[in-house]
Amino acid sequence: MTFAAAETPHGWAVQRPGPIGTGPLARVRRRPAVPAPGDLLLEVEACGVCRTDLHLAEGDLPPRRPSTVPGHEIVGRVVAAGEAVASFRIGDRAGGAWLRGTCGTCRYCRAGQENLCPRSSYTGWDADGGFADLALIPAAFAYPLPGDRDAASLAPLLCAGIIGYRALRRSALPLGGRLGIYGFGASAHLAAQVALAEGATLHVLTRSVRARELALDLGAASAGGAYDAPPEPLDSAVLFAPVGDLVPVALEALDRSGTLAVAGIHLSDIPSLNYQRHLFQERDLRSVTSNTRQDGRDFLALAERIGIQVTSSPYPMSRADQALADLAADRVNGAAVLVPG
Ligand SMILES: [Zn+2]
Ligand SMILES: [Zn+2]
Repeated sequence: MTFAAAETPHGWAVQRPGPIGTGPLARVRRRPAVPAPGDLLLEVEACGVCRTDLHLAEGDLPPRRPSTVPGHEIVGRVVAAGEAVASFRIGDRAGGAWLRGTCGTCRYCRAGQENLCPRSSYTGWDADGGFADLALIPAAFAYPLPGDRDAASLAPLLCAGIIGYRALRRSALPLGGRLGIYGFGASAHLAAQVALAEGATLHVLTRSVRARELALDLGAASAGGAYDAPPEPLDSAVLFAPVGDLVPVALEALDRSGTLAVAGIHLSDIPSLNYQRHLFQERDLRSVTSNTRQDGRDFLALAERIGIQVTSSPYPMSRADQALADLAADRVNGAAVLVPG
């Protein structure tokens, strides 16, 4: 291996899952693994910080193996590739995302629903992720990325963007429909741009005043508090805030036959629902589970076509703990992104 970073690899790992104030992340030094036949070794140019990383650090998602490096919005250059890799060459830019493996043979995989594969694996949970100088990802689950774009503005597309896109599709928004978005962080501000490009009328409901300003700048018709009623009934809503209390609030905001999609992998408990107030008139409540690689390809092509704008807050890799703490405290505008240094 000829890359300079090999001598001093380092990153962060979840050592003691717990509240972010207790310091669940620790710096680790690891030798770079030699890529397996189907793997890419990436020199990390940027890695986005996702709320799922926070859930992993805090133990909301229990660890699947000890001392795992989080981070699943990885933009990097290929510095080594396994012998079976034909789709990437040394020097190419590649993206590593949350979904990193499926069985390929179960009924879900065969039906184009690999996001539901019971034997799926995830970057930063089942294997080390991108809060590090180097990251190994399976080439079959890597995305080719344009080499001439700012790495920090590409990283949030890989989870926030793709999951937001799937959540938007799960919300069954009709053409020109009225969309409510609850919570307006990294994922929401990207999904919002897709919806607006497709002609939606957007209402954003979030506790963050800065996020409301961003929503209006992007073209939202209104922006209010998380528990406020939108100015008109909604055809569709997406709940990005991991707050179960907002489920009945968003259901009540739906028009007849409206759909609410819950985007997060983790949600606090939903309070009891009243059938008449929250569900009758054929309102639908749906979850969103991971994504397929097709979602990723579709979204990345769409993002390029509509020129999606990523609002990001860069942090040096050495301050990954601070980035997570800021995310926990809602101090991040748009997406937090780690960059080497
Ligand atoms: Zn499967
Ligand atoms: Zn994520």
